[in-house]
Amino acid sequence: MPECIETVVIGGGQAGLALSSCLTRLGHEHVILERGRLAERWRSERWDSLTLLSPNWMTQLPGAGYQGNDPDGFVGRDWVVQFLEDYADAFEAPLRCGVRVESVQPHTGVSRYLVQTADLVQDRTAAIGARNVVVATGAFQHPKIPPLSAALPPSVLQLSSRDYRNPAQLPPGAVLVVGSGGSGSQIADELCEHGRRVYLSIGRCQRWPRRYRGKDIWTWFDDMGLLDEVGRRHYIDPSYGCTAVLTGVRGGYDLDYDRFAAAGVTLVGHLQGYENGTLRIADDLQERLDRWDESRALLTGMIDDYIQQVGLDMPPDTVPDGAASRAWRRRAPLLEVDLAARGISTVLWATGFSHDFRWLKMPVLDERGDPVQRRGVTALPGIYFLGLRRMHTVKSSFLFGVGEDAAYLAEHIAAGT
Ligand SMILES: Cc1cc2nc3c(=O)[nH]c(=O)nc-3n(C[C@H](O)[C@H](O)[C@H](O)COP(=O)(O)OP(=O)(O)OC[C@H]3O[C@@H](n4cnc5c(N)ncnc54)[C@H](O)[C@@H]3O)c2cc1C
Repeated sequence: MPECIETVVIGGGQAGLALSSCLTRLGHEHVILERGRLAERWRSERWDSLTLLSPNWMTQLPGAGYQGNDPDGFVGRDWVVQFLEDYADAFEAPLRCGVRVESVQPHTGVSRYLVQTADLVQDRTAAIGARNVVVATGAFQHPKIPPLSAALPPSVLQLSSRDYRNPAQLPPGAVLVVGSGGSGSQIADELCEHGRRVYLSIGRCQRWPRRYRGKDIWTWFDDMGLLDEVGRRHYIDPSYGCTAVLTGVRGGYDLDYDRFAAAGVTLVGHLQGYENGTLRIADDLQERLDRWDESRALLTGMIDDYIQQVGLDMPPDTVPDGAASRAWRRRAPLLEVDLAARGISTVLWATGFSHDFRWLKMPVLDERGDPVQRRGVTALPGIYFLGLRRMHTVKSSFLFGVGEDAAYLAEHIAAGT
């Protein structure tokens, strides 16, 4: 007879812990299965100097939140790990670490599901029967690496933003960072500051000022209610890429492509192909820069309108758009990059993340492998998801949003037992 538990939560990151806190408050029997350590991804899948993009006041989980004296500052990833450890200790989270879930399948009997596990510490497998299973294994699971990577020569080190730690980890030489969203831009910034020659292939990203007219950009989003709008998939307009470029390093500043160029970073368009040692680059740098500028204008226009509508007395923008020189934009863009001639020894892929839920042996995924759910609730009784990207609102996968979804799911789960 397998062990039977009312609810199995898979994943001991902030999502699993937030749900556990809510279930504990409701007196609902459950266990969290975590293949690594608590908050494993914050520990081992983020670079050393990672600083949150979200200001401290936004670090809020059910029953706990940032209590320090710098609510508008930005903490590092070690702080997040400690915060989550303290959080779990405070309510004695029923966490089993080193236990990887291999599959979940339907089961007949009191337990509706059979959770197959591998205990990585004791090197044994076991099954757990559960009436409910909550999948909280993270929205940012596997790096998406373009097929083009297979053609690159073995002499070039390739790694993803998940596996990047610090500049010293990379061999001497120039670095091509592919992707300029939050991760790619911050890593390019760090490499540049450490004296590396950097090439940055820019994506369709949004240009957000760190602060605008006296407030952090997230504070404006919160004030304007954008973070709470159900079903909202984009902060500004769906025609723009979803990725925004921000940093919280040294209290936060604008990560600006023009400033990058001024610091010696070579910006290029998107990679199209690779032959005989040379990368072919699309002639779309200008278009991407135009869209990048437009997104800032759209966003700041929205904030200006809001300020006017509500009648706020806010100061003008202190970092006017176009503060850094744009003269470099008039130069012809690079359309070919000879890796050896330019001394590029590393290609760092910061091209986003995908997920893989094929270990769920039941019809809960659509044809693209995405969970079919509404606010985490699926059509299968007792099967839930938590922490997915834009699951309910734009903040669903973040430290400042997962708690509300967790509270909702906990009520749903407890009501069904
Ligand atoms: C580079 C980066 C920067 C970010 N910065 C911010 C920020 O500034 N502010 C913010 O609010 N959010 C940020 N996020 C987003 C989000 O807060 C994090 O991704 C966070 O880790 C998500 O927490 P989670 O609990 O949903 O998932 P995860 O932290 O990914 O936790 C999932 C857990 O499940 C475990 N697991 C996976 N598969 C199994 C299995 N089969 N069996 C058992 N356990 C399993 C994993 O080991 C992991 O510990 C950032 C994300 C990234 C990638």
